[in-house]
Amino acid sequence: MFEYCKCGQRFDLDFRLVDYKKQISIDNVPIVICPKCEHEEILPWVQQDLSLLLQSLPLENKSYGLDYTDFNELAYIIYKVFTSSEVDTKDAFKLEVQTVCAARINTLLDLYRCASDVHDQSWMAEIEARLLQLTQKVLSGENEIRFSWA
Ligand SMILES: [Zn+2]
Repeated sequence: MFEYCKCGQRFDLDFRLVDYKKQISIDNVPIVICPKCEHEEILPWVQQDLSLLLQSLPLENKSYGLDYTDFNELAYIIYKVFTSSEVDTKDAFKLEVQTVCAARINTLLDLYRCASDVHDQSWMAEIEARLLQLTQKVLSGENEIRFSWA
């Protein structure tokens, strides 16, 4: 399980500023950090998504910054719960993330129906991409929603 460090300690969640080629600064990238040995890692699904995002960004002559949570639905939700929630255990935190994700998925599905009704293909594609960012990690079954960091 990715929730645990090699040393056996359970990871804490945090957010970092990541620099790319000294040109692009990406803020609020979700990471895990071990409170015992201080080992830290970018979450595997973030690594993949982030490298795709970086490939799509232009390298300009001057440096610029952006916020990762503007580009990834799940990162946005995790960040929002992380900075505003009052829950004090990791399990309660995960449960809250699941609940917010489920609500967001429902909202996106409603939007998708609207987009489909007006036959707006590019809007539909955009909503699909956002749904995918959520449903890759959040699987909703009949009455169950599972969520994992990894
Ligand atoms: Zn450790």
